[in-house]
Amino acid sequence: MKSLRITVRGVVQGVGFRPFIYRLAHEHGLAGWVRNTSGSVEIHVEGEELSVDRFVAEIRISSPPMAKIEELTSSSIPPTGYVGFEIVESRPEPGQYQLVSPDIATCEACRQEVFSSEDRRYRYSFTNCTNCGPRFTIIEDIPYDRPLTTMKHFAMCPDCRREYDDPLDRRFHAQPNACPVCGPCLSLVDAQGVPVGDGDVIRSAAKLFRDGKTLAVKGLGGFLLSCDATDAEAVKKLRERKHRPSKPLAVMMTSIAEVKRHCRVSPEEERLLLSPQSPIVLLMWRGEESSICAEVAPNLKYLGVMLPYTPLHHLLMNEVGCPLVMTSGNLSEEPIAKDNDEALRRLGGIADFFLLHNRDIYAKYDDSVCIVEKDIPRVVRRARGYAPYPIALPFDSRRILACGAEEKNTFCLARDRHAFVSQHIGDMENEETLEHFEKTIELYKKLFRIEPEVVAYDLHPEYLPTKYALELKAKNSGLRFVPVQHHHAHIASCLIENGVQQPVIGVAFDGTGYGGDRTIWGGELLVADLKGFRRVGHLEHVPMPGGTAAIRKPYRMVLGYIHALLGPDFPLHGLPILGPLDPGELVVVARQIERRVNSPLTSSAGRLFDAVSTLAGIRGEIDYEAQAAIELEMLADQDQKASAVYPFSFVEEAGCRVVRLADLIAAVIDDVKQGMPAGAISTKFHWTMAKMIVDMCRAISRDTGIKVVALSGGVFQNRLLFRLSVDSLRQEGFEVLTHRLVPCNDGGVSLGQAAIANFAASAT
Ligand code: ZN
Ligand code: ZN
Ligand code: FE
Repeated sequence: MKSLRITVRGVVQGVGFRPFIYRLAHEHGLAGWVRNTSGSVEIHVEGEELSVDRFVAEIRISSPPMAKIEELTSSSIPPTGYVGFEIVESRPEPGQYQLVSPDIATCEACRQEVFSSEDRRYRYSFTNCTNCGPRFTIIEDIPYDRPLTTMKHFAMCPDCRREYDDPLDRRFHAQPNACPVCGPCLSLVDAQGVPVGDGDVIRSAAKLFRDGKTLAVKGLGGFLLSCDATDAEAVKKLRERKHRPSKPLAVMMTSIAEVKRHCRVSPEEERLLLSPQSPIVLLMWRGEESSICAEVAPNLKYLGVMLPYTPLHHLLMNEVGCPLVMTSGNLSEEPIAKDNDEALRRLGGIADFFLLHNRDIYAKYDDSVCIVEKDIPRVVRRARGYAPYPIALPFDSRRILACGAEEKNTFCLARDRHAFVSQHIGDMENEETLEHFEKTIELYKKLFRIEPEVVAYDLHPEYLPTKYALELKAKNSGLRFVPVQHHHAHIASCLIENGVQQPVIGVAFDGTGYGGDRTIWGGELLVADLKGFRRVGHLEHVPMPGGTAAIRKPYRMVLGYIHALLGPDFPLHGLPILGPLDPGELVVVARQIERRVNSPLTSSAGRLFDAVSTLAGIRGEIDYEAQAAIELEMLADQDQKASAVYPFSFVEEAGCRVVRLADLIAAVIDDVKQGMPAGAISTKFHWTMAKMIVDMCRAISRDTGIKVVALSGGVFQNRLLFRLSVDSLRQEGFEVLTHRLVPCNDGGVSLGQAAIANFAASAT
């Protein structure tokens, strides 16, 4: 006889782990019990030695699909003479925590039930089981039991209760278990909240879609705004009302077969679309061959596509029969709306109708966005399906709150070997997002029992998360506060997710990051590790006439480059976008540059991409972030095997290599004047930037002996630049570290801040 006490940590609650243990114990004829605690799952087993050993081995091998075992420990204890095996009451433990599962897309078994007319859950939108359904969005506290979720308002009917109590049922202890008799239900109302339709909500909603209406559809983590993606008028109307003139919209499609009719799909992309995370995947759009209207993603070659991930989506898509636009239910850059009243109030001017339900959402949760590049799935917006699963730290961390950057904000709370990077919070530009930020920090602190001792924040004094940190500082003298340079944080985040701690050459190319020297950085080469960094190279500084106005109007940036690098008298005629400009504005901009009025200096790579886009005649003003640079990328030849490059040079200033850009800008202008098409200029420019990165890394490597390069910063969302850089760095013999788990854009900054703050706090 043998008796063991086993403790399992990881994602082991809300994923069918206890029922799995129950069945496994019965299979092996073992006695004892299993229970959830706040920090783990505890198991007591006793029986024949061989059976106990097999039982332990199988826990790892055959655990449920959504479970992630991080640690399994066991110790022998004296047998207590148990008879039978049972699941016993959860035991909360003060200070302990356990990992919380993300929300998971509907599994195949549940999907089949929903479409089977014999099943009692036929056409039921809230069908779920221990392998699928809402998790994080409904949890108010741990341990994860129904009374601590927003399902507490629904008392299970006898049939559901029987499933819930039956260890051999696949809904055994499925906390959100529900059916049409006892569970949440749908309703369809107009913008005034008045019920509409013939009683069959899904059928009525589908008809509204076919009539070109816009619907706000309540999902897992908030409302999505939706309309027929093949109806150009409907899409235009949605754009106008949402104040989103051209930023691309995501599309939901019924099946992978339908996706393939509209987009090219690689095997890895297909796997990602069908994964339990079910993210939006940016796919190569078939353009003319696809019936999705151009207004969904104007001027772009990629289309954001996802498959249905709730029973409601499956039913709706099946009934509508065409792809639907599905975009966050908000106005422009506000956070996603989650409550029914809030949605009617905030989205009343956008949606014609509302598809509601009465299961509350506790946490706002956007759809995640991924790309597959170099055959690896990479998250560019991390939320549903991924958060709040932590990133593993290669060291034991202090308890840290890292507040993140301003755009695409996430924060990060760290303890032990876990970095809990929050779901995408959004652009911190308004009160609503700040409130969402603060509430979500409180939720994570509660769920993971983290009372921070160290607070990390970006150097930029105008960032709202920085102001939040400084307000904490003013109120609380007991905490340590660590300011972190933006690009150092980018590189550190790339190091962490690759488990690397030694110094690397960090290439941080992005739009904007505060340098600490009163200039704006963004084309940076750092020698960095988690403890510190040295700026060893950067793009030449040029003025940004009008500050942020130069971001919205890249033609101002062009004037900055020309004025600073080619001289104030350089002739502008023959340049398509600058030609028609108001001469009065040209004078104002020139004066801003000369007198250095509201013209901060920047070394930003993002601004250089913007400026080349404008010079090439693509666009002089933007209405979503990085639009000019993205449209430049879209025109490049993706498959070209070699290319001429524009000239550039390095000079050394105080141990730092500066890339001189005068020759590059002059050569681009020459090509434009020679009538070279924008696509050809773009291709040549992309190859130039990749060569610039390699040349810089080679020179830095010669000085330092470092052969590992980390690529980070939002500019690496440019897939062509990313590919060219990785390929040519590898050809040079460099090991190249890239992002997969957190975004290369500012959504990844909080992770890097947390790691840096941990070492800074330990150093003093
Ligand atoms: Zn299921
Ligand atoms: Zn029921
Ligand atoms: Fe950045």
